[in-house]
Amino acid sequence: MERRAPSPVSLLTERMNFRLLVDMAFPIKVCAVCSEEFELKPDKPGFANRCPACSEPDHVEAATKTGIDADERKTLKEANEARRRAMRDLLYRKDS
Ligand SMILES: [Zn+2]
Repeated sequence: MERRAPSPVSLLTERMNFRLLVDMAFPIKVCAVCSEEFELKPDKPGFANRCPACSEPDHVEAATKTGIDADERKTLKEANEARRRAMRDLLYRKDS
C-alpha cells in the first residue's frame, strides 16, 4: 500500500495526541521487580510500582495460594505482552 509522506508536523501532532489519550487512560509504569512496562490501573491489586505479574499473591508474603496457578499466570503474562506489543505497533508503525 502506498503512503503519502505526511509533513513532520502533522505526524508529530497525530502521535502526541494519541500518546496523550493513552496517558490519560492509564499511566505507563516500569515494574520495580522485572523492569517491564505496565499500565497502572486504578483497580490494580498490589504495589503501584510492580506489574500485575509481580503483584501476584506468591510475591506477597504469607498469602494463601488460591486461584491462579503458574500456567495461568504465564498465559496472563503472555496475553499482557501481546497486548503491549499491539499497543506499541499502534504507537510506532507510522515511523517506519
Ligand atoms: Zn514485574
